[in-house]
Amino acid sequence: MSFDAQAVRRQFPVFASRPGGQALHYLDNAAMAQMPRSVIEAMVAHDSLSRANVHRGLHPLAERADRAFDAARATVARHLRVADPAEIVFTAGCTAALNLLALAIGAELGPGDEVVVSRLDHHSNLAPWLMLARGRGVRLRFLPVTAEGRLDIDRASEMIGPRCRLVAVTHASNVTGAVTAVPSLVAAARAVGAKVLLDGAQMLPHASVDLPKLGVDFYCFSGHKVFAPTGIGVLWGRRDLLSALTPPFGGGGMVGSLDEDGLTLLDLPYRFEAGTPPVTQAVGLAAALTWLDEFDRSEIAAHERRLTDRLLDGLAAVPGVAVVGPPSLEQRLPVVSFTIAGAHPHDVCQVLGERGVALRGGMLCAQPLMSGFGLTGVVRASLALYNDDGDVDALLAGLAQTIKVLR
Ligand code: PLP
Repeated sequence: MSFDAQAVRRQFPVFASRPGGQALHYLDNAAMAQMPRSVIEAMVAHDSLSRANVHRGLHPLAERADRAFDAARATVARHLRVADPAEIVFTAGCTAALNLLALAIGAELGPGDEVVVSRLDHHSNLAPWLMLARGRGVRLRFLPVTAEGRLDIDRASEMIGPRCRLVAVTHASNVTGAVTAVPSLVAAARAVGAKVLLDGAQMLPHASVDLPKLGVDFYCFSGHKVFAPTGIGVLWGRRDLLSALTPPFGGGGMVGSLDEDGLTLLDLPYRFEAGTPPVTQAVGLAAALTWLDEFDRSEIAAHERRLTDRLLDGLAAVPGVAVVGPPSLEQRLPVVSFTIAGAHPHDVCQVLGERGVALRGGMLCAQPLMSGFGLTGVVRASLALYNDDGDVDALLAGLAQTIKVLR
């Protein structure tokens, strides 16, 4: 039996009843995915029955909250096949995770050191390293992108030289949908003793990620793109590497002891979680990953692939449309960006939005990629498991009419 997207969709309150009765064709999943009822209910239950600050309060409610928070961390670790939950650091999101790492690693780097990023990266993985480069005299090198919108892995060994300390790139592009050839990248980094960080913000909603198998050193992602709430993300790092870094933020919950002369730090992960952590959001994230784990991920992938194929075929038939990204479905997420001759992406998104088709348009926080392609913006349709043929067809039909209106 084929994957039942309709049954999945029924689990999402957002699709149940729309204002004015208009159907919602939600194709903006790369920006934020919707939340299933089970995730919303898990958070409501937590806030109703177990709400208290964590960090070892001694009353029963606080103990319940502690247990829920610990269980959430263990669930995230299991989802990523990580044996030690202490390697899972909760952050406010992927951006927060990347900044945390850039500050922590940055403190160890100086003039002469190099960090390799790529022209395919989201600004979240560029701005922190650019700020670091400016502040500490670290040289930033940009891996180039092929005409298809893939990381040009053939140039990896040339860019990742003996001074490289870290290769920090996206696991999959939020613009072209291209999935990074991780083994080649890891091999190039290992050849010079550099560490590897992958930004998994776009990858994790679409594939099960086995971190030990992937062979990288650090990984991060955001909850809101994996059917979980906003305000939560994860930084994973190998225990020996995380333990060797100095936390850039201080506060309650990370201190072993403190007096006027200084402080000692708690062990992982707490030393990186200063202040009250996002407890309810962690519960929501765990519920979302548990929900995802109940599916056969290969069925989801096949479903998303079929829809991507339908979308790419449909777009190829619309005059003036050019896809920015790989034409093949190999190593490609269901994230499809395109330009339309004579139509501004913002106008296209607005007109289609009024027809119930939710898209994203503009630079997509990827200016180096856009300028490399000589573009000022794209329209992006990004799919999730609850999308179906009807969503793709609504986009294609709406697009044809929108083009008539705008030209
Ligand atoms: N990395 C990639 C590839 C993204 O697509 C995004 C968001 O779109 C981010 C990082 C930043 O995620 P957040 O805004 O949730 O911190």
